[in-house]
Amino acid sequence: MLDLLIIGGGPVGATLALALRDSGLTCRVLDARARGGLGAGDRTLALSHNARLIFERIGIWGQLASVTPIRTIDISQKGGFGITQLTAADAGVPALGYVVRYGELQTVLDAALAAADIPVDFDRKADAVATQPDPADRADCVRVTARSASADAAEEHATRLVVVADGSGEALPGIHRRKIDYHQHALTGLVTASAPRPGVAFERFTSDGPVALLPFESGYALVWTVAPERATDLLAMAGADFLAALQEHFGDRVGAFTAIAQRSAFPLSLQFAPEVTGWRSVVLGNAAQALHPIAGQGFNLGLRDVWSLAQALLDATPDDIGSSRQLAAYSRTRRVDRWAGVGLTHGLVHAFAGEQPLLAAARGLGLTILDSIPLLKRAFARTMLSGLR
Ligand SMILES: Cc1cc2nc3c(=O)[nH]c(=O)nc-3n(C[C@H](O)[C@H](O)[C@H](O)COP(=O)(O)OP(=O)(O)OC[C@H]3O[C@@H](n4cnc5c(N)ncnc54)[C@H](O)[C@@H]3O)c2cc1C
Repeated sequence: MLDLLIIGGGPVGATLALALRDSGLTCRVLDARARGGLGAGDRTLALSHNARLIFERIGIWGQLASVTPIRTIDISQKGGFGITQLTAADAGVPALGYVVRYGELQTVLDAALAAADIPVDFDRKADAVATQPDPADRADCVRVTARSASADAAEEHATRLVVVADGSGEALPGIHRRKIDYHQHALTGLVTASAPRPGVAFERFTSDGPVALLPFESGYALVWTVAPERATDLLAMAGADFLAALQEHFGDRVGAFTAIAQRSAFPLSLQFAPEVTGWRSVVLGNAAQALHPIAGQGFNLGLRDVWSLAQALLDATPDDIGSSRQLAAYSRTRRVDRWAGVGLTHGLVHAFAGEQPLLAAARGLGLTILDSIPLLKRAFARTMLSGLR
């Protein structure tokens, strides 16, 4: 019997397996994607300083080639007053964050799992996880069935604890998830500009939703929130027309936009599991909470789930792995940070939407206050980097 079966070897599941590599626990990872493939569409991720520390501890940080630091975040609203800048000095860290490519991160994590001899079964979709103990089963364990897309036969695994990091939570039917559809898409791409400001990320709030430019290599990673129909139009537009539309929307804070590549669109919703544990099971990462990318919090929050669970498993006696006592303690540890992450992103989506003059004035005032009180700025920057505990 395994101590731990991880369903989903995406960035969250793979990081957990690597964090437990020297623990002596027996662990196996199942992933529905093909070896070398990607589970979710490629995108750039803004990682917090905390995320960097976790990747340093599991020994993969130095292997990421495309890391671009964010030293300043410039926050403004289109058509209204109020602007603020958060700097690395405000937060007392060398950089506020780092932009990496999801695809490169996954490749590096896959290589680290192979180098550590952690068994990973690719092309294995978990499709039946027991959610109740079977009275006829003498072994106190969860049974999980997995199938390959290329073979009819199913495999069964027995484990003390099943960790669901499948990005959606669908592999564990017993966990209830609330869903709020934002009726918006995130249009992403890589854009270059005539007057880039190295190390500066821009978060600009507009009545259609936020638009972010994250410094990435010599240009920017774009995350532009738009209505679904507008996303379809923008994806189909000729490059020059797209750049003109972006210029009109974003303004000229980085000069003229000169090229766009790798356009994609992702539907946006908030999905949140109020309870993240069940019988000998836990959901984490996007399976526990999928957030609007407005403040680049989703994966960073998922990594904090990983770190807390890894600490709980490292501190446990063998009999305690997957016990209701252990899972209840883990769930309590994560409660405040998870709710704060959801509240922050959902609150920002609403606070910065809409064109009413009073609301625009309140937003401007908020940004001006944040800009003029260094202690408040520092607290805000620290919350964005490390979450709430
Ligand atoms: C446009 C956009 C921009 C974003 N920007 C940021 C950002 O700047 N900063 C940030 O922190 N976050 C950001 N996020 C969120 C971030 O992408 C996610 O939080 C992160 O990818 C979650 O990782 P995960 O491992 O939980 O899930 P995934 O990345 O979805 O990985 C899940 C894995 O599980 C596998 N799987 C699925 N089902 C099964 C099954 N039944 N059996 C076995 N395996 C299975 C899949 O193949 C995949 O490998 C952004 C998201 C979007 C959409």
